[in-house]
Amino acid sequence: KLHNTILELKGNIRVFCRVRPLLPDDGPGAEPTVSYPTSAELAGRGIDLIQSGQKYPFTFDKVFAHDASQQEVFMEISQLVQSALDGYKVCIFAYGQTGSGKTYTMMGRPEAPLQKGLIPRSLEQVFQTSQALAAQGWKYKMQASMLEIYNENIQDLLASKSNAGKEGGKQQHQYKISHDAEGNTTVADLTIVDVSTIGQVSNLLQKAAHSRSVGRTDMNEESSRSHFVFTLRIYGVNESTEQQVQGVLNLIDLAGSERLSRSGATGDRLKETQAINKSLSSLSDVIFALAKKDDHVPFRNSKLTYLLQPCLGGDSKTLMFVNVSPDPSSIGESLCSLRFAARVN
Ligand code: ADP
Ligand code: MG
Repeated sequence: KLHNTILELKGNIRVFCRVRPLLPDDGPGAEPTVSYPTSAELAGRGIDLIQSGQKYPFTFDKVFAHDASQQEVFMEISQLVQSALDGYKVCIFAYGQTGSGKTYTMMGRPEAPLQKGLIPRSLEQVFQTSQALAAQGWKYKMQASMLEIYNENIQDLLASKSNAGKEGGKQQHQYKISHDAEGNTTVADLTIVDVSTIGQVSNLLQKAAHSRSVGRTDMNEESSRSHFVFTLRIYGVNESTEQQVQGVLNLIDLAGSERLSRSGATGDRLKETQAINKSLSSLSDVIFALAKKDDHVPFRNSKLTYLLQPCLGGDSKTLMFVNVSPDPSSIGESLCSLRFAARVN
């Protein structure tokens, strides 16, 4: 009941917090910097960040402790995924500093079944459910696209030939975004692929991962500087009732949220960091304005929010994961991430 009231108050925006486990690289003898309030009222929703004995309490729609499995996390979003088949526009974001577990949450380790992330699990569910619904006369057509936004420029990750290069010299291709009155988004020249099996999507995800790494010296480093946007468009028609639905599922692995000072950036790095900061703060402004039901929502302030405009407003559904590292050396960034998420929550 409480949960429903919260949903109503906030429109359809929810925030889940996920803390990753301590890793060997986090430093020997590192003590986790989080604790979980155990009061009945806050069970599974509260988290305290602990810095030098000081507690900073936060509350979200859901808090996943470091031992939450990928399946447990997926169970909490499976209804949201389902609603895309019912014709809703859905966005699921992963927000947090580099190394906090965003990619693990979204993609996981696809080769290890238990560690598959939300993208492969969501697609499995979508394909299974759509097949089950065939018995009731539903026929579905689905289309996938994958892009990244780097320095406020869109890159098509499924293009057969790279349309542009980050590696200097080559002309950057400008992908034009437009929305029609029904809230359908077109990105001119973006590759869109019909998909109907999980195998097809896995191949596309591999291709996208390859495109992201091309021309980059350090793949992990570089991929954390861009937003990855996976979009599945779902068109359903019921052959007996002639009912039609159109849903969209956007799954977004955001660029690392670490602050400017920490990266000590100059030159290209500075430009990159400024682009990331701008789009992440625009995202926060947009979600905040939507939650407050402001008349003016500043969608146009960044590529990311403009691209996703129809999927963020109206009766669409948005979920933000705030990923947090329990490593003591990350405590400043963790506090920033939690404060960011608490603002939009
Ligand atoms: P990000 O994408 O935010 O930079 P990653 O998802 O790459 O972070 O996570 C950093 C490291 O932590 C990776 O080695 C990843 O496998 C590991 N990791 C993240 N979350 C978890 C988790 N919930 N359980 C186990 N390992 C995790
Ligand atoms: Mg990542």
